[in-house]
Amino acid sequence: MGADTPPLLGYDSGMEIMGIKIPTIVTENSGIRCEGCRQPISGTPFRVSVLDIIATEVAPSFESASPINPGPFQFCAKPACPSQWMAANGWYFCAQSSVREIMRPVQLTSAEAGAALGLCDGLHQSDHEFLPA
Ligand SMILES: [Zn+2]
Ligand SMILES: [Zn+2]
Repeated sequence: MGADTPPLLGYDSGMEIMGIKIPTIVTENSGIRCEGCRQPISGTPFRVSVLDIIATEVAPSFESASPINPGPFQFCAKPACPSQWMAANGWYFCAQSSVREIMRPVQLTSAEAGAALGLCDGLHQSDHEFLPA
């Protein structure tokens, strides 16, 4: 996990004029790329934050720290992009939930999935139904 970190926006390359460092000014919307399709986002991105992991069905020794970058991750308006992003991370997505601004990670351990993370909005009463994103 974490190999696919979002591109850093406005990392301080700055520029120097006569020995004075001028920090690069970054406006919020410039150069933001969708985590799904990697295209620049025009307009307001859809943001998804991932909460700390909740260990439900796994021994606590598996992970001590959350392996998830909490985000927020930013997406364009295409509905396919959040699942593309989850698939790229190897995450599962709960079919009982929707992609919302706050997602809850669930540690999965099963024969099919091995040890994988599933994301769920946590808003349904029924059992999770994790499928590969
Ligand atoms: Zn996109
Ligand atoms: Zn669920």
